[in-house]
Amino acid sequence: SSANKKIERLVKTTCSYCGVGCQLQLKVTGEQVVGVFFDKSSSNKGHLCAKGQFGWEYIHSEKRLTHPLIRKNGELTEATWDEALDLIQEKFSEALERHGSDAIAGLSSAKITNEENYLFQKFMRSILKTNHIDHCARLCHAASVVGLQASFGSGAMTNTINEILESDVIFVIGANPTEAHPVIGYRIKEAVQKGVKLLVADPRKIELSRYADVFVRQNSGTDIALLNGIAHVIYKEDLWDKEFVDNRTEEFETWVKSIEQYTPEYVADITGIASEDIIAMARVIGQAKKMMILYAMGITQHIHGTGGVLAIANLAMLTGNIGKRGAGVAPLRGQNNVQGACDMGALPNVYPSYRPINEENRKFFESFWETSLPEKPGMTLNEITHAVYNGQIKAMYIVGENPSLSEPNGKHVQEGFDKIDFLVVQDIFLTETAEQADVVLPAASFAEKDGTFTNTERKIQRVRTAVSPPGEAKADWLIFIDLAKRFGQKWSYSTSEDIMKEITQCSPLYREATYDQIEAGLVHWNYPGTETPILHTEKFVRGKGKFHPVEFTKTAAEEPCEDYPLLLTTGRTLHQYHTGTMSRKSKLELLQPEENILVHPNTVSDLSMIDGEIVIVESRRGEIEAKIRCSDKMPQGVVFLTFHYAETPSNILTNDALDPSSKTPELKSCAVKIKKK
Ligand code: SF4
Repeated sequence: SSANKKIERLVKTTCSYCGVGCQLQLKVTGEQVVGVFFDKSSSNKGHLCAKGQFGWEYIHSEKRLTHPLIRKNGELTEATWDEALDLIQEKFSEALERHGSDAIAGLSSAKITNEENYLFQKFMRSILKTNHIDHCARLCHAASVVGLQASFGSGAMTNTINEILESDVIFVIGANPTEAHPVIGYRIKEAVQKGVKLLVADPRKIELSRYADVFVRQNSGTDIALLNGIAHVIYKEDLWDKEFVDNRTEEFETWVKSIEQYTPEYVADITGIASEDIIAMARVIGQAKKMMILYAMGITQHIHGTGGVLAIANLAMLTGNIGKRGAGVAPLRGQNNVQGACDMGALPNVYPSYRPINEENRKFFESFWETSLPEKPGMTLNEITHAVYNGQIKAMYIVGENPSLSEPNGKHVQEGFDKIDFLVVQDIFLTETAEQADVVLPAASFAEKDGTFTNTERKIQRVRTAVSPPGEAKADWLIFIDLAKRFGQKWSYSTSEDIMKEITQCSPLYREATYDQIEAGLVHWNYPGTETPILHTEKFVRGKGKFHPVEFTKTAAEEPCEDYPLLLTTGRTLHQYHTGTMSRKSKLELLQPEENILVHPNTVSDLSMIDGEIVIVESRRGEIEAKIRCSDKMPQGVVFLTFHYAETPSNILTNDALDPSSKTPELKSCAVKIKKK
């Protein structure tokens, strides 16, 4: 067994799961990873969660893709690299010729490296001439990118993770760090032990609520009212930071009028939180010298996701909690390289470093890449899947993502992929989406390649080769180079470092990201002229911080009704990850092998059902079966599913209504009913 093998070497690298970006050492024997070792020298201080520690065995799973596959007579059949790449070249060229570049789209991946994201968007833009490029950030923090950009001029986490320990108050809203960002969860508990105050606002009784000084359970989708209400009390009780507001911000007067009506009583009515608790939270925040707000999908995955982010930014500015240590706003990024994929321009409206698609920047990249580029910004992820369904997108290239399971209104997405003329999927496993493809390309996992990932706090960290990829699988960046060659382009990168050298020349945020600096663990990206990893210290990236009035209007696009009386919310759990592609092929599967629909015991008895019963969960878009688990952590009338299991694909049920500004879908709320089987 692997446990008895002698460890020949340790390879330091970055965890392949979540955006915390823990450093770890892979124990290697020959061509086998045999375990994971802690790395105390890094900012996670040796801490790893179960995913980092026990989730690595997928690297050597027998189910890894080892050869390219081409669909022949309806079946995916083993092929050579030449056959597969020639076919891709032929089919994309044909789509370009017949339908133009608007009929082509690509999804990049928050799982591949920065260097690979950079090459993929370069490939799509400069060779296939389309800006229809997006990735799963659209499903999580696109609302943060839009909202924080409007407020501060940058969509990223403003401070660093370990500053949690230097804070006076941590405010967690719409995030469940002990499950989704576990090492940040540990850090918060450590801070509480040191005397840092903790405030938690979540409809569910999450684990951190046990550690909180004040814990409130807002009705789902009422965060804007709660945040406005807290700001209202802070303003009325004169606990706000006048100096900061006067010197550093604009549009305060207009905004302050907009929160006038959000009295504790008014907000109590909307949120279901006692007005004394709203006042208590406001006082703790108003009296703190340093407060950090941590949030995640509970804020962003709503039709008012951008509004929620703006309300958070307003509160941080009102209390002067931006641009100093131990404070700030922390959107907790989900995937290990979702920050980097955004930074690299795997988005439809920006080039690397968020340079907007306009004439000036287009001309820069046309000369830098020595080619012509498309003028119009492209479509977002959900718009792309709709365009696939409608027949507008004829050929698509998906790298390391599994939209058939991860996109809302899943049936619609799957039907689109069944109809599309030509679909390429590049991945390490035959995912549910790959099963629908015309060509499948086998990629290397994080343990089989070099490169960098950027974590949630903007820290750029190395990924290092520990073993060779299985069979004929190849690193994604090598595949992109081979493909570019098929289209007559000579890309002369021989290492991932060569690609990073090019990135440093066109991406101002990465100007200091040389491999030497990254090796030394030194690079949190920041804007030119700044010495510290903290954003907005002297001034905001946009100059002044801008207050935005945000009104609470409704909780969700689809509220519970007579036919669908329950509210379904979705999320992650500690021992599985996303669509299960990796975690389910490791020991983690033993810890959490199946889906449970979590339901409050009173709701279960109202339905005359029992714990453990298999039931049908139905929404307007479809139905699935799942096992009921009674949980007093759930509010009455609200049920919870993960999106980890292909057997119980919860996104068949979810709603694809979008937040109009960020196009993030409302994965956190839809109406369902539960029926006897
Ligand atoms: Fe990996 Fe995230 Fe767990 Fe750290 S907290 S070990 S990065 S999954």
